[in-house]
Amino acid sequence: EGKWGKAVGIVKEFEEKCGTPAAKLKLVADAMTVEMHAGLASEGGSKLKMIISYVDNLPTGDEEGIFYALDLGGTNFRVLRVQLGGKDAGIVKQEFEEVSIPPNLMTGTSDGLFDYIAAELAKYVSQEGQEFQLPPGTQRELGFTFSFPVMQTSINSGTLVRWTKGFDIDDAVGRDVVAELTKAMKRQGLDMNVSALVNDTVGTLAGGRYSNKDVIASVILGTGTNAAYVERAQAIPKWHGVPSKSGEMVINMEWGNFRSSHLPLTEYDHALDADSLNPGEQIFEKMISGMYLGEIIRRVLCRMAEEAAFFGDTVPPKLKVPFVLRTPEMSAMHHDQSSDLKVVENKLKDILEISNTSLRMRRTIVELCNIVATRGARLAAAGILGILKKMGRDIARDGEKQKTVVALDGGLYEHYAEYSKCLANTLEELLGEEVYKTIFVEHANDGSGIGAALLAASHSLYR
Ligand code: ADP
Ligand code: MG
Repeated sequence: EGKWGKAVGIVKEFEEKCGTPAAKLKLVADAMTVEMHAGLASEGGSKLKMIISYVDNLPTGDEEGIFYALDLGGTNFRVLRVQLGGKDAGIVKQEFEEVSIPPNLMTGTSDGLFDYIAAELAKYVSQEGQEFQLPPGTQRELGFTFSFPVMQTSINSGTLVRWTKGFDIDDAVGRDVVAELTKAMKRQGLDMNVSALVNDTVGTLAGGRYSNKDVIASVILGTGTNAAYVERAQAIPKWHGVPSKSGEMVINMEWGNFRSSHLPLTEYDHALDADSLNPGEQIFEKMISGMYLGEIIRRVLCRMAEEAAFFGDTVPPKLKVPFVLRTPEMSAMHHDQSSDLKVVENKLKDILEISNTSLRMRRTIVELCNIVATRGARLAAAGILGILKKMGRDIARDGEKQKTVVALDGGLYEHYAEYSKCLANTLEELLGEEVYKTIFVEHANDGSGIGAALLAASHSLYR
C-alpha cells in the first residue's frame, strides 16, 4: 500500500540519519576531548564552558553537622536536611521533600521564582524536628544545587549565564543566584546562610565520592544533561585565581551545549531547535536528554501523519501540540512487553487521542522510540568516552589496578532501562572489554542534593 510504504520510508530515512556507528562515536568523543582542552585554555574558547566550580576538595567522610540543601533542577525542586556524623560515621539521618515548580514561574520574573522557592524552603524548615535543632547562636547552612549554567565567582556565588530546559526568566540572567535566593529568604524571614552553590553534576560528583573513593566524574541524564569531572589544576590555563591546595579542581563542563559536525542531526532536530526557547544552544542536550526525546518522536509522527496519512485522512490535532509526548510515556511504550502492544495502544489513546491503531502501526512507534533512545544513549556514551580520554582513563595500564567510577544520576538514566542498558553496552563497545573492566558506571541515587549538603559542610561558617 502506497501510504504505508511512504510512512515506512520516512522511518527508514530517519533511522539512517540517526546512525551512530562506533567510528562516528569515536569522532564525537575526540571532538569532546578537543573542546574540553579549548574550554580550559581560555574563557569563551569553546562551546563547552568548562566552568571552574571552586570545589578543589571533595568530601572525605569527616563532614559533620546538620545541613540543608536545595536542589533546583528542571521541573521539580527538592529540599533536604541531613545530619552528617563525621569521621566515617556517614549520613546519620536524611529527609527530603519534593515540590513542583508552577510552569508560569519558569518564564516569569526572578523574584517570582525565588520567592516561591524561599517560601517552600521556609515551610520545610518550620517543620524541623527536635533532632535537627542547631546549637543556639548558629545559623542554618544550605548547599544550593542550581542546575543551569552559572559562572561561579566563589564557592557560594555565581552569575547565571543563561537558562536552559524550558526556563526563560530574563531579569535573572547576569545576576548572582545566591544573592537572589538570599534576598528572597530575607523577604520570607528565613535566617539561613548559603555556604555552597553547586551545579547538580558537581553535587553528584561530591555525593558519589563520599560513598566511593574511586568516583572521578559524574553525568546527569534527566530533564537536561551535563557532566563534571576532577581536573588537574595545572591543566587549566584559564585559571588565574587562588591556586588550588589539593592540586585539583572540579570542572562543570556544561556539556549540554556541546556541538560537533559529527553529531547525527536530522531535519527534526533542526526544527526542534529552531522552535525552542534557546535556538542554537544546547544541541547535545536536545539530542540526548529527557526533555526532548519524546518531542523528537512527536515531530517524526507529525510528518508521517501529514505526508503519509499514518493515522488516517486527518492529522490528529493533539499530535500538533509541542511536547505532548513526554519521555516517560515514550519509555513506557518502548518497554511494552505485551504481544499486542497494549501499552502503546493506550498511550496513543490517552495522550494523542488516537484510537484504532493497528499492531504494525504500534510496532513502528516502538521502532521510533528505539531509534531515538539508541541515538541518545550512544551519544551519551561517546561523551563519557571523551571525558575518559581527557583523563587518560581510556587505556589499560599494565600492572595498574586502576578503577574508574563515573557517577550517573537523573530521571532518564534511572527510569529508562533501554537507554541505560544501551549506554553501558556502547561504552563497552567503544572501550573494549579489557578497559571496560576498569570502568564502573554507577547510579548515584540522588547525589546532587546530598552532595550540596556535603559541600556546605566542608565550606561551613563554623568549620
Ligand atoms: P531534573 O533533571 O529536572 O533535575 P530528574 O533527574 O528527576 O530531574 O529527571 C526528570 C526527567 O527524567 C524528566 O523530565 C523525564 O524527562 C525523565 N524521566 C522521568 N521518568 C522517566 C521514565 N519513566 N522514563 C524515561 N524518562 C523519565
Ligand atoms: Mg536534578
